[in-house]
Amino acid sequence: MSRPVFRFAPSPNGLLHLGHAYSALLNAQMAAQADGRLLLRIEDTDESRSRPEFVSAIFEDLEWLGISWEMPVRIQSEHFADYQANLVRLWDMGAIYPCFCSRKRAHADGLQIRDPDGQPHYGGSCRALSRADAEERIAHGGTHGWRIDMAQAGDPEAAVWGDAMIAKRHVGSSYHIAVVTDDALQGVTHVVRGLDIEPATPLHRLLQGLLGLPTPVYLHHDLIRDAEGHKLSKSLSSTALRELRGDGATANNIRRRLGFG
Ligand code: GLU
Repeated sequence: MSRPVFRFAPSPNGLLHLGHAYSALLNAQMAAQADGRLLLRIEDTDESRSRPEFVSAIFEDLEWLGISWEMPVRIQSEHFADYQANLVRLWDMGAIYPCFCSRKRAHADGLQIRDPDGQPHYGGSCRALSRADAEERIAHGGTHGWRIDMAQAGDPEAAVWGDAMIAKRHVGSSYHIAVVTDDALQGVTHVVRGLDIEPATPLHRLLQGLLGLPTPVYLHHDLIRDAEGHKLSKSLSSTALRELRGDGATANNIRRRLGFG
């Protein structure tokens, strides 16, 4: 039997905080208990928010916490061609379509129904474009993202997202298509991540089904909250690991505080 594969997949758009530490430690613990492997993946497809200094901070902070991972680390921005190839496959099967609407336009075109992020479902004007018209607009440099044709997909769980944008404008890819592509390419068997991402999971299962990829086991853990019960945010430096370290915390203090005694 091959060994289970876990992964921790942070986005380098801020410093790691206690919530990330919890997720990384939980993945490491579960991998160790299952005699599994632990991968680290840098999810930097959002080029407007990712910074190289946050990538090095991720390595340093995890090492300081005492977590070890397999090499090489997969850096998503080096693999846009893989995500693009899956986008083309999905387009060829009629599951997605390019959307040329600006954010403003897409909202104006939106329906009354809202998705789990509180955004109105896309009204679908670009869905009506013929492939020839869409190809011509792309060939002429038309800025576009990619939306899933949810009516076509017929998946009641994923349908809460409407025609979700699975790959964004201005970037070669986006989180949804990249995460599904990489989990399959890296043979990930167990996805252990925060409850904040749980609403996106039906979308990931849908993409796996369409692309003929295996669906890993999903486990969504509770989020670490501050004293007032708010979700920790990357912009809040008070819980950043390096801030706590600067204040004298040891890796063992952090582990104990998070229940990894
Ligand atoms: N990169 C995502 C984040 O930092 C997590 C993705 C995942 O675990 O599937 O929020």
